[in-house]
Amino acid sequence: MPAGVEQHASFTYWYAGARYVWLLIRHQVNVMRHPDLKPAEPSCVCGDGLTADEGTNLSRRGFVASTIVGAAAVMVGTTVLHVPPAMAQSTLTPDAALKSLMDGNKRYVDGQLKCSSENLAILKSKTAEKQEPFAAVLSCADSRVPVEIVFDQSIGQLFVVRLAGNIATPEVIASLEYGVGVLGTKVLMVLGHGNCGAVKAAIEGKAVPGQISALYAPLRMAVDQAGPNLDAAIDANARIQADLLSKASVIIGGAIKEGKLKVVPARYDLASGKVSLLT
Ligand SMILES: [Zn+2]
Repeated sequence: MPAGVEQHASFTYWYAGARYVWLLIRHQVNVMRHPDLKPAEPSCVCGDGLTADEGTNLSRRGFVASTIVGAAAVMVGTTVLHVPPAMAQSTLTPDAALKSLMDGNKRYVDGQLKCSSENLAILKSKTAEKQEPFAAVLSCADSRVPVEIVFDQSIGQLFVVRLAGNIATPEVIASLEYGVGVLGTKVLMVLGHGNCGAVKAAIEGKAVPGQISALYAPLRMAVDQAGPNLDAAIDANARIQADLLSKASVIIGGAIKEGKLKVVPARYDLASGKVSLLT
């Protein structure tokens, strides 16, 4: 590799790492100072027209704006947002929610999908006013991991966050805090998958175009822990991100302590379609 490119890659890598650590620290400080900081209304972040029972119909832009306003208010120390308790909650226990996920994956593996035969128009009308997802899934953006299909679930059942390498960045943590703290999901699965290109790239650590190397830093711990073995690094990463979610978020960590939530790392096998829990 030419010296200039190597130097650039090294700087990009260092910058991405420093930025990631800074964002995590900033997020954690905000959460510690104001653990009750949540959106001002129990609004939905998943699309226009979806609201909680009595929530104002805030658009995604409105949600982001309210979060920014809230953060700005915290910074000047003038306001702490009050959030009414969530209204749309699944009644499943964490164990039952996890069983529903795994049962759905078994139907998928067995070729016994039932969601595809359900009437999507009825599901849409039932969920137009509120959402009650029973599970949240943090998965890779890989096109071979279509989360709802993998678990044989349909509209309104899963709160899904997808990002290359299924990494828990501050923005991902914020999204999942909404899923857990406001929507009341009972299980949170971090789903790695075989042959993950993001983990493979982090192991190789080559210079890459654009900002792709920003993914390297959050995957570094898994690579350091597992070494060059791709499968081992993929599993280590799912465990590390699940652990990070449990510890970096007082909302997620608090729900675990209260027995309202289970956080589980898992791996999806591209060839068989099977999801295996990583214990
Ligand atoms: Zn991947």
